[in-house]
Amino acid sequence: MTLPIYEVFAIRYAHRDAKRTSHFLGGDPHDGPMPMDYFVWLVRNAERTFVFDVGFNAEVAARRKRIHLRSPAAGLARLGVDASAVKDVIVSHMHYDHIGTFGDFSRARFHLQDDEMAFVTGRHMCHAHFRHSYEVEDIVGVVRMLYDDRVQFYDGDDELAPGVTIHRIGGHTAGLQCMRVHTKRGWVVLASDTSHYYEHFEKGRVFPTTYNIGEVLEGYNKLHRLAESPQHIVPGHDPLVMARYPAVSGDLEGIAVRLDVMPKAT
Ligand SMILES: [Zn+2]
Repeated sequence: MTLPIYEVFAIRYAHRDAKRTSHFLGGDPHDGPMPMDYFVWLVRNAERTFVFDVGFNAEVAARRKRIHLRSPAAGLARLGVDASAVKDVIVSHMHYDHIGTFGDFSRARFHLQDDEMAFVTGRHMCHAHFRHSYEVEDIVGVVRMLYDDRVQFYDGDDELAPGVTIHRIGGHTAGLQCMRVHTKRGWVVLASDTSHYYEHFEKGRVFPTTYNIGEVLEGYNKLHRLAESPQHIVPGHDPLVMARYPAVSGDLEGIAVRLDVMPKAT
């Protein structure tokens, strides 16, 4: 059986200025600028549409001092996708910048790992250190969706459709998962926060917000195993994604890029 081919897009919805030292455990000898982009991802073909992560809203952006460029739903609309009609949303993990606009996807089923739900509703949230990256209203909202029969759980790796798989990695949070998509250039891995920047998986470095360092590092090996080549791994927050991949069209410059074509070398 030949596997279906999907188009894959990164949609940039927010931004913040930051320094290199804030992105690496143990700091960094070069304290230059290292800005952070925030993305959601769209995977689609003629039969199916998947959205991977749903970002945060303007109110949370203001409170957390992030620059909100557009709502993820508005970004998706530019690609012809109506968020309220999306049937499947895969959530890498429930940090505020990945689950915050779940309300805009009012008909979707949300796909997440058992370990993430246990993490965000259990003893680790007694610690402000872990709680800080979550918004309680998001977690309560996901519990409401669960009772509304709109959450599907996974324990590890699974296939959502031919050519679309999810893979638990953990590390950054207990139940973090990445997504793998079959495209015209082979298997592309949407790493989300299993690797915030290229430098993390390329150099084996660790982002400071981490639950389990061993799983982070093992996760990099898994990303390499899942992807057709290192050029097929797409990190979760790196502005280089916008630089390396082509804009979907002239009017989407700086907003959305295609990930199903090979990146430019930089
Ligand atoms: Zn994130």
